[in-house]
Amino acid sequence: MALLVILEHDRGVLVEGAREALTAARDLADQMGTDVEAVLIGAGAEGLTDEAAAHGAETVHLVTHDLLTDYGPDAWAESVRQLADALGAEAVMSVGTDRGNEVMAQLAARTGLPFVANCTTIDASDDDEWSMTRVQWGGSLLEDSTLAADRKLVTFAHHAVAAAEADTAGAGDVAEFEPELDDSHTITMIKDRAVETQGVTLSTSPVVVSGGRGVGSAEGFRVLEELAELLGGRVGCSRAVTNNGWRPHADQVGQTGTRIAPEIYIATGISGAIQHWVGAMASKRILAINTDREANMVTKADYAVIADLHKVVPAISAEIRRRRGA
Ligand SMILES: Cc1cc2nc3c(=O)[nH]c(=O)nc-3n(C[C@H](O)[C@H](O)[C@H](O)COP(=O)(O)OP(=O)(O)OC[C@H]3O[C@@H](n4cnc5c(N)ncnc54)[C@H](O)[C@@H]3O)c2cc1C
Repeated sequence: MALLVILEHDRGVLVEGAREALTAARDLADQMGTDVEAVLIGAGAEGLTDEAAAHGAETVHLVTHDLLTDYGPDAWAESVRQLADALGAEAVMSVGTDRGNEVMAQLAARTGLPFVANCTTIDASDDDEWSMTRVQWGGSLLEDSTLAADRKLVTFAHHAVAAAEADTAGAGDVAEFEPELDDSHTITMIKDRAVETQGVTLSTSPVVVSGGRGVGSAEGFRVLEELAELLGGRVGCSRAVTNNGWRPHADQVGQTGTRIAPEIYIATGISGAIQHWVGAMASKRILAINTDREANMVTKADYAVIADLHKVVPAISAEIRRRRGA
């Protein structure tokens, strides 16, 4: 019996979701009466075994092959299929990032097994049939499901669990595995990439200062940029803003944008439509600045200022500078 956890990494850099997956997997493994076995695939992954152990992995399967140079959903899924068969794994899980869900969907298609994506809780006390709650429709619907299969395939919703190291680190015993792959498994592979942002990204920034239609123009975002810079954060926006061409799509928060989980989300001139909210709801604290006290974002926020953002945002920046003596 084995619980395999696919750890997403990008050229040897573990994504935060991979730590979340291991954190969730520890509870699942306890319920199943088994250990957490991490799966690290491809070039660069060999440097991540200690971190996997710190997050509770008893075994770390290092999957290598000449064709596993960079991320590719077909090759990753085929590798996991072969490893899971070799170990007789009872379950395979990952985190529900785009790549996590893509690999698991490939795995499900290759094996004909059912796959439940984006779970928030899983009850695995019954070996034959697991019960779970998962998010659907961009997070606006919670669905109770059951999963009965010889090998269960699941992903945990991104940000559903806070990543934490294990109280007692796992042994992290490294087991090498070389799958049989050929060119048919490398139809989709990352070959190259363009870096659009440096340093902290929207999805990992501890502070996000966002603007909506209420900002009024592309130039209106200057005061938000200034505040974000003072707080060491990033600027985000709503879809009304990207639709108007005021900011690039990479800045959009929401269902069809980025899901964020900052320590503080400052939402200015944003009504808080459900499609925006699902991308912002994992924020630890929300400050809404809006002229409409009935706006969804205001009623859901931890703090609200009912006023014109063009007056409030520069005033906050000025006060920060004054207190810093700048
Ligand atoms: C399939 C689908 C996917 C979508 N995906 C996304 C998504 O990923 N992200 C997203 O954001 N939206 C998304 N939307 C769009 C979403 O439904 C809303 O239309 C959008 O979020 C509204 O943007 P907004 O809050 O900036 O604008 P509005 O709803 O127009 O709100 C503007 C707000 O600004 C306030 N305001 C105006 N002037 C000021 C001022 N001077 N000072 C302070 N406050 C002021 C107003 O009171 C109002 O609350 C999606 C829609 C669909 C159908």
